[in-house]
Amino acid sequence: MNIYNEILNLKDKKNALILAHYYQNKEIQDIADYVGDSYYLSRISKESKNKLIVFCGVDFMGESAKILSPTKKVLLANREATCPMANMLNINEILKLKEDYKDVAVVTYINSSLELKTISDVIVTSSNAETIIRKLPEKNIIFIPDRNLGSYLAEKISDKNFILLDGYCPIHEHIDINEVKSIKSKFNNIKIVCHPECNKKIRDLSEFIGSTSEIISYVNDLKKNEILVLTENGVNKSFTDKNYYHKLKKDIVCADMKKTTLEDVRDTLLFEKNEVEIDNDLVKKSRKPLIRMHELA
Ligand code: SF4
Repeated sequence: MNIYNEILNLKDKKNALILAHYYQNKEIQDIADYVGDSYYLSRISKESKNKLIVFCGVDFMGESAKILSPTKKVLLANREATCPMANMLNINEILKLKEDYKDVAVVTYINSSLELKTISDVIVTSSNAETIIRKLPEKNIIFIPDRNLGSYLAEKISDKNFILLDGYCPIHEHIDINEVKSIKSKFNNIKIVCHPECNKKIRDLSEFIGSTSEIISYVNDLKKNEILVLTENGVNKSFTDKNYYHKLKKDIVCADMKKTTLEDVRDTLLFEKNEVEIDNDLVKKSRKPLIRMHELA
């Protein structure tokens, strides 16, 4: 029996749900029940009837699924897969900063550690951050951990005061700007599309800035344009016409997102290993801002 069938059999037998982020390897996206961005997958994990969930993504995604569905068994297909940005900030620094403001909300990108979530007023994703922040009554917004997404939102929401710290996604931060400029100068009609985790210099060269799902919709709606997409290359799988894409010399790849293999998915299902276990107190504290996200989004 090939590994695809082994996984499908196990999935049926155990009535499990397999969720995969867009940045996962192609074969993992193929075997998943649902493929999507962080917000979509957290919603599916909360709403599904399945009691066993295999998450193919990085650790904070499995944690969010567990927090939203504490009675379900959530397994992370590869326990080593983590997000460097999620752990960049220190919570004491943020709590201290918060004391300097009276009218303040801590708004935390879902790509964050559990500890950061526990001190947050609300969690956001790149697709719902603008909507949610506009609804908050507070004037001052401590936006963590991504300074790039934070500065992008600050440009869009001018009536709030954004306070940013020094977190960033190394994958989006280190895109080679000179190569992007060089491609832009060679192709007059090219549409450059980027994720808001990119820095301002890259964003300023882009015609469209959006979350992963928004990028996919935008690109699939463009008819036969020259396109350069500046986000993790796992999204390419969702593009319907791949004939018009330019690529950078070095692929934009999140190594952690690519750690999950089909063998990992099979073994995780078979042995029900890598269970996401979170202390009750942490679940309680981080559930509140996550639920608030679902209410405000
Ligand atoms: S692409 Fe960036 S933000 Fe997303 S998981 Fe990888 S390191 Fe974290």
